[in-house]
Amino acid sequence: MVVKRNKVVIVGANFAGLAAAIQLPKAMDVTVVDPSPHFEWIPAIHEILSGVKTPQGLQLDRAQIIARAGHRFIQDSVTHIDARRRRVVTAAGESLAYDVAIVAVGGVTNDYHIPGVDRYTWPFRTVADSLSIEQKLDILRHTQSELQVVVVGGGISGVEALGELLRRYRDRPKLSFAIVEAGNQLMPGFPKAIDADLRQICKEHKVSIHTGDPVGRITPKGVWLASGKRLPSALTIWAAGLAPPPLLRESKLIRPPHTWAPVSQNLQSRYAQSIFVIGDAAALPKPVGKQAYNAIDMGALAAQNATRWLAGQQLKDFKPPAKPMLVAFGDLETYLVANKTVLASKTLAAAKEGVYQLFMAQTAPQVGLHAVPGALRRLRKSWHALVVPALLSIKDVRALEDCRVLKLL
Ligand SMILES: Cc1cc2nc3c(=O)[nH]c(=O)nc-3n(C[C@H](O)[C@H](O)[C@H](O)COP(=O)(O)OP(=O)(O)OC[C@H]3O[C@@H](n4cnc5c(N)ncnc54)[C@H](O)[C@@H]3O)c2cc1C
Repeated sequence: MVVKRNKVVIVGANFAGLAAAIQLPKAMDVTVVDPSPHFEWIPAIHEILSGVKTPQGLQLDRAQIIARAGHRFIQDSVTHIDARRRRVVTAAGESLAYDVAIVAVGGVTNDYHIPGVDRYTWPFRTVADSLSIEQKLDILRHTQSELQVVVVGGGISGVEALGELLRRYRDRPKLSFAIVEAGNQLMPGFPKAIDADLRQICKEHKVSIHTGDPVGRITPKGVWLASGKRLPSALTIWAAGLAPPPLLRESKLIRPPHTWAPVSQNLQSRYAQSIFVIGDAAALPKPVGKQAYNAIDMGALAAQNATRWLAGQQLKDFKPPAKPMLVAFGDLETYLVANKTVLASKTLAAAKEGVYQLFMAQTAPQVGLHAVPGALRRLRKSWHALVVPALLSIKDVRALEDCRVLKLL
């Protein structure tokens, strides 16, 4: 007797999609589609700017990881999801039938329709983006006498990018930096104490900070702010936010008035029960941060819920984990934000490194002894990988010699 295997198609396989793929049982017929051959550790792409990380150190072979999980990988881009016919169509023309689809396509750079962004700025979303910026800056440094780099976006990715630029170039007198944030503080949504601390640190370096003054347009030589101020710029890094990939709207997984794909708390699309949308692409009833750790947890739950739904069982709700957030500002400072507590300590950089090392070692396609050389290579190349204190408690952090508790403003 032939037993029918349930078909699952996963669209997008970085944090959320890969976590789902790893959790789905081999007994299912699982196909994973992503245009890129590599999983990328996006939360550390800023370290390519300083040379702390290499592109290879942030990538893992996606096909091998998925094969180890017992599933099929197709390197291709999905162009349409037909919820009615339960089919996923790829750019190469494949039409994949599914019983359940898990959609984990993340976000794309948001240009907010500001003139000049697409032509004159450098996006900052992938390993390749960060490498291009690093290489361009190297050329500019050798060809221009004085130059300013402008980072647009004062959220985590913009602040972390600026930190790495300062790590590498703060002693080069020819180089200056500016950071622009439309909101009224750096790191909007975080305690204002971090903004104040960053401003204090930046006073010692050639950095100008522009908050509450959104970008109006970009030209080849500068950034114009809404106030009329012009910031000369030899290189403008665009780290100003995310928009949903067009696929979600075209496949009717986003409909007005929603910006991102609405899902129930169990991650099921509000428009199609056979589709789970997870990671950055999803809009939950109770919004959660677009963060890798949420994406990973959503991936694991989507795998469970897909299995439950196919078996006619009740689905579980997503309960966002209360994890502390680590924000690095190059080698100048690292912040740990847990509830309303903000701790600052350079030593915390090792904790951020530990989270990365742990994840890469667990996810690397090679297991056992084969994994050791790769892990050691990554450790050696990361010159601030001191220990793996990812499990440090807040009490332990407070006890660090250089730890400061930031006063909430
Ligand atoms: C500079 C920077 C720093 C960050 N720092 C942190 C941090 O310190 N901590 C933290 O928790 N988070 C951080 N984040 C956020 C984190 O990276 C995201 O939340 C996370 O990547 C979201 O995972 P995801 O799987 O939903 O989407 P992504 O990681 O964006 O993956 C989406 C995948 O979908 C694929 N895809 C897209 N379109 C298609 C298509 N049409 N067909 C098939 N596949 C497709 C893409 O190729 C990609 O592999 C940072 C982000 C940036 C940019």
